[in-house]
Amino acid sequence: MQVVVIDDTLITARLIAEYLKKIGGVDPIIFTDPEEGLRYCMDNEIDLLMVDYMMPKMNGLDVIRSYREQRSKEEFPIVMVTAMEERDVLRQAFEAGANDFVPKPLEPVELIARAQSLLTLRARTVELRRMATIDFLTNVFIRRYFMEVAEREVVRCKRYGQPLTLCMLDVDHFKHVNDSYGHAAGDEVLKFIAEKCMESLREPDSIGRLGGEEFAICLPETSADEAQAVAKRCHKAIEDASIDVGDGENVQVTVSIGLAQWSEGETLDDVLRRADRALYKAKEAGRNKVVIAA
Ligand code: GH3
Ligand code: MG
Ligand code: MG
Repeated sequence: MQVVVIDDTLITARLIAEYLKKIGGVDPIIFTDPEEGLRYCMDNEIDLLMVDYMMPKMNGLDVIRSYREQRSKEEFPIVMVTAMEERDVLRQAFEAGANDFVPKPLEPVELIARAQSLLTLRARTVELRRMATIDFLTNVFIRRYFMEVAEREVVRCKRYGQPLTLCMLDVDHFKHVNDSYGHAAGDEVLKFIAEKCMESLREPDSIGRLGGEEFAICLPETSADEAQAVAKRCHKAIEDASIDVGDGENVQVTVSIGLAQWSEGETLDDVLRRADRALYKAKEAGRNKVVIAA
């Protein structure tokens, strides 16, 4: 797990880090410059921050406030390290978003116990969040979370005058796969399709499983023409594959894809509906096709 220690006194920071290393899987990163440490926490996935209170330039309270102001309270836990005579800042520290504190002089048993308990909680939170957003079978977003992400992207692209395209993908004659090879084989095919699509996507793109054998892809900053190239890549990678579904069996499937570029005045549902109609056209035209919405 990723732990960050911010303390302007290198010896103290090192000592805290040494104690924390006693917790399995923890190898803390140390910062003596609070601004640098804060920047690191903003840019990286962190599991716990231990921050000293008394520091020049920026004290522990400032660090906590700056972080919590910009990122939500559900993010990683923060422990403030305070000397006995600084106890009156504790109330402010908790108000600013600290989750716990450890007193100086440092007491290794207490420090480790507090950090350990917060890390356990953090691991559970991360796991719960994963379960609430990621489809168990295919590892892509679940429908509700995909819609949330896509909604944010529509707003963002609209604000910056960027194009955005949505794709709907449906496996062709998937019922036949289940009927011929069994449901477990069908599941393997779905996993494979999700994997192949993810391989074709870039960092800002997202993919979700809308239900059964139907997926949606959100491509921000992408016009319909550019999206068509992405969709064709996914389409071909799936068509060309011979999918190992276990028991020495290999399955070949094709997919149909409909895509629609967001246009002024449309809601996310409007674009998805147009992409869905394009998908329906692809099916009607004989399946195994990519169709752009009118
Ligand atoms: P079309 O080309 O028109 O899309 O035909 P299709 O057979 O793919 O479509 P249809 O909607 O008739 O069948 C979809 C099938 O997908 C039926 C359902 O049992 C199966 N299915 C839905 N979810 C899962 C799943 O999680 N795993 C497996 N193995 N099958 C699933
Ligand atoms: Mg289908
Ligand atoms: Mg379907």
